[in-house]
Amino acid sequence: MSSAARSTDAPTTVPNSPRAAVLSGPVSVCVDRPLLTLDRPFTYELAAELRARVGSLVRVPFHGRLVRAWVLGSTEDVPGRVLKVRDVVSPFPFFDERGLALFRRMGERYVAPLATVIGRAVPPRVASEERDQTRPDSNGSRRRTHADEPRRASVVGDYRNGPVLLRALEGAGGTFVVRPGPADEAAIAVGCVRAALAGGRTAIVVVPDAEPVPGTAAAIADAFGGDAVLFLGGDKRERYRMWLDIARGRYRVVVGTRPAVFAPLRDLGVVYVDREGHPQHRDERSPSYHAREVAAMRADIEGAAVVLSAFCPSLEASALDHVLVEPAGRPWAPVEVVRPGPEGRSPRLVRALREARRAFLFEPVRGYGVARVCRSCGEPAACASCLGTLRMERGEIRCIVCEAPGRCASCGAADFGVVRRGAERVEEWAGPIASVPVSLVGRDDAARPPPDPGVLVGGLDALKDFGPQELDLVGVLNSDASLHRPGVDARERALIAWFEAAAWAGPQGRVIVQAKAANDPAIQALVSGRPGRFHRTEGPRRAEAGFPVGSPVFRVSGGDTLEASLRALSPRSLLVSAVGGATICLVVLDRGDLGAFGAAMRTLAGRNVVTRVEAEPHL
Ligand SMILES: [Zn+2]
Ligand SMILES: [Zn+2]
Repeated sequence: MSSAARSTDAPTTVPNSPRAAVLSGPVSVCVDRPLLTLDRPFTYELAAELRARVGSLVRVPFHGRLVRAWVLGSTEDVPGRVLKVRDVVSPFPFFDERGLALFRRMGERYVAPLATVIGRAVPPRVASEERDQTRPDSNGSRRRTHADEPRRASVVGDYRNGPVLLRALEGAGGTFVVRPGPADEAAIAVGCVRAALAGGRTAIVVVPDAEPVPGTAAAIADAFGGDAVLFLGGDKRERYRMWLDIARGRYRVVVGTRPAVFAPLRDLGVVYVDREGHPQHRDERSPSYHAREVAAMRADIEGAAVVLSAFCPSLEASALDHVLVEPAGRPWAPVEVVRPGPEGRSPRLVRALREARRAFLFEPVRGYGVARVCRSCGEPAACASCLGTLRMERGEIRCIVCEAPGRCASCGAADFGVVRRGAERVEEWAGPIASVPVSLVGRDDAARPPPDPGVLVGGLDALKDFGPQELDLVGVLNSDASLHRPGVDARERALIAWFEAAAWAGPQGRVIVQAKAANDPAIQALVSGRPGRFHRTEGPRRAEAGFPVGSPVFRVSGGDTLEASLRALSPRSLLVSAVGGATICLVVLDRGDLGAFGAAMRTLAGRNVVTRVEAEPHL
C-alpha cells in the first residue's frame, strides 16, 4: 500500500539550474554509510582544484577511514574542526539539485537514509565507461525534433479529458490517471510522449517488466527512434554507459523499468507509469519505493506532468488529486458472469471454448492440484518439513512453503489423494473441448501471447503487455477464490489482473467470468468496464481494516521499549508482535505526521530502540 502526496498549496518546483558549478570551501556531503543513525549531512572542506560539483562522488576521512561520499552543496554549517575532502572518485555528477530534492523527499517519505536512496537511484559506477567524455550535456547532435512532424490526430485527444492532458504535457504539468481502452495502451503512451516533446521537453516511460519487452516500450522505441533509449535489463557496464549517455543529453525519451524513474533527463515534461498498479513497480529492497509515487514526486519537483496508466487504476492512484482520462465510449468486449460448474467448467464457457479460434483462460492457481489426504495413513496431507500445503505441479508433489518434496507429516509416505484444481488441470480439461490446440504458460515458462489459432491457459505470469490481442474469448476462472485471498489489497490485485486479461478480448470477442458472487463490486466493475464502484466500496473497507488508502504504513523492528516509544508518537494505529527477542510493530500514520515520525525513528535508531524501518510492507 502506498500513495503519492502531491502538495497543492505550496509550489515545490525546484529550478532547473544550469550545469552545476564547481564548488570550493565548506561543503556538506552524504557519506556512503546507509544507516539511519548517520543520516545527516557532514561538513568537509573542498578544494577548488578537485573540480567537484553537486552530485560528485568523492572520498572523505570518516571515523578514521576513507569512505565514499556524495557532495550535496555548499554549507554555512561549519563545525570547529573540519576535515578535507580527500579526492574525487568520479568527475561525473551523479545528480543535480533537482535529483537531490527528489532523493531527500524519498528519504523523508520512506524513512530511509539518504545514502540508501542515492545508492538505489544511481547506477553502480563503471570507471572505464567515463573515459570517453567527462562533460555533461555536451551532445545534442543526434536530436530530432518531433515538433516539425505533422501533428497526427492523437488517440489521446479523443479521450474524455484528453485535450486537458495534452495541454498539460506541453507545459503546465499536473496529475493524470488514464484508463486506456484495450486497444490503446501503447498508443496513449506514444501520444503523451509526443505531446511532451512537441512542448520542447523530455519524457520518461516506466514499464513493469523488462522481459519480454512490453508492447508499450517497443511502441515508444519505434515511434521515437534515435531519440529514445530502452533502459531495460543489460549488464552493469551497459547500464552505466546508457545512464551516462542519458545524462549527457543524448536522448529525449527514456523507457525502462523502475530505475528509469530516476533517469537523468533534463527539461522533463512527463513521467508516464504504465500498468501503475503492477507489483513490479515496487522495489522490495530499502527504501521500498513505489515507481508511481516517485514519479509523482519527481513530476512535482520538475513542474512536469505525471500520467498513471492502467486498465484498472489502483486505489492509490485514484486517491490522488487527479484528472481522469478515459475513453468516451465503451471499448471493452461484453463481459458475462456465469456460475462455475464442476471443476470450474460452466456449460456457457464450454460452448464458447468449443467455438473459439483464439482464447485465453485465466487461472491464477498454479499446478495440477493440492494434496488433501495421505493414501498410506489416511491423515490430512501436510509437508513433513514445515506442515505446509502440498501441491502437485509438473507431475511432482512439493510443499508450496518450503519447496521440499512431498512427504506425509504423519507417516513419511509420498502417495496422496489430490484435489484437482489449477492451471495444469484447466489445460487438461480444455484440450478435448477446444477445436484448436491448448497450451499452458506454467512455472518457469516464458510468457507468450496466445497462439493463432490456439487456447492459452495461464495465471498472473502470463499477463504481459503484448499489445492488443483481439481474442474471441477470455475466460476468468476461480474468481471467488481470488477475492478471498489473504492480503489487504488482494481484491484489488485480482481485479487489476482480470482487467488485464479482459483487455485481450477483441471488440467482437467476449469475456466470461465464472463467479458465485455475481454482485460483488469487483465482479460488477469488470462487467461494467469501470472500476469506480469498486473503488467506492473498497476504500472504506480498507479504512475499516485499519489501513486507509494513502496512509503511510511502516514495519518497525526494535527492542523492549519500542512499543512505548511508538505509542508516544500517537500514530493512527499500532499493531505489536514479538518475534524471538525482537518487537515488531506495524505503524499506520497520517500523512502529515511523516516528518515527525522520520525524525523520531532516526533518534530512536541512535539509541538502539529501533533496529529496522521498512516502508509499505506487504500486508
Ligand atoms: Zn514445507
Ligand atoms: Zn501418511
